[in-house]
Amino acid sequence: MLKIKNLTVHYGVIEAVHDVSFEVNKGEIVSLIGANGAGKTTILRTISGLLRPSRGEITFNEQTITKTPPQKIVAAGLSQVPEGRHVFSGLTVQENLEMGAFLRKDGAVKSDYEQVFEKFPVLKERRNQDAATLSGGEQQMLAMGRALMSKPELLLLDEPSMGLAPIFIKEIFNIIEEIKQQGTTILLIEQNAKMALSIADRGYVLETGSVVLNGTGEELLASDEVKKAYLGG
Ligand code: ATP
Repeated sequence: MLKIKNLTVHYGVIEAVHDVSFEVNKGEIVSLIGANGAGKTTILRTISGLLRPSRGEITFNEQTITKTPPQKIVAAGLSQVPEGRHVFSGLTVQENLEMGAFLRKDGAVKSDYEQVFEKFPVLKERRNQDAATLSGGEQQMLAMGRALMSKPELLLLDEPSMGLAPIFIKEIFNIIEEIKQQGTTILLIEQNAKMALSIADRGYVLETGSVVLNGTGEELLASDEVKKAYLGG
């Protein structure tokens, strides 16, 4: 579904991503793990069309999207939940969800909100509340709900566990698995390697801008290199 071929991305003269190739097949959860600064967010932002690569090709459902503007990429079925959530403050929870459906030609209907509220009951309780007043975990849920309102085929998640209490982390990961079971493919970027690999069909390990290891989630969890570097020995 998503193919990344020989991707290199620069910020000015700094090379943040070097010759990275990987793919995500329909129905999978694929996790990209790596330390701070490994280049995970840069890759995600390049896939979403927010950054332009200096080399390489990205295809989504066999279409090249390397130079496609971000809103067209969303309209094609690929939606990102950014790091740090970025919910719209000053807008209510419900209005934030509406924004997620903005690019849909069919417009949002009641059943779409109901589906999101079913996954995230707390958002229903708080539908008329300013999004800025939600807790970190609730904002993560809102950002995910908002992305789901665009009815994506592929959901890109950037560090959904960041800054959250363990109980929220568990809940968010359960919901990610549920989203997969309902037919949405997922590319997950995480520093929490243990959680990310335990729900992943496959994963890639990124170090200083390059892919150094890949395998199934189970293989990577059992790998000595991954254990030593990312799972605390
Ligand atoms: P983190 O988990 O800390 O977000 P990451 O794996 O997502 O890390 P990136 O944010 O993609 O890493 O950063 C990769 C490299 O690119 C880092 O060395 C970072 O300092 C650099 N970088 C990121 N954004 C910029 C920018 N706007 N200008 C210059 N360098 C940048």
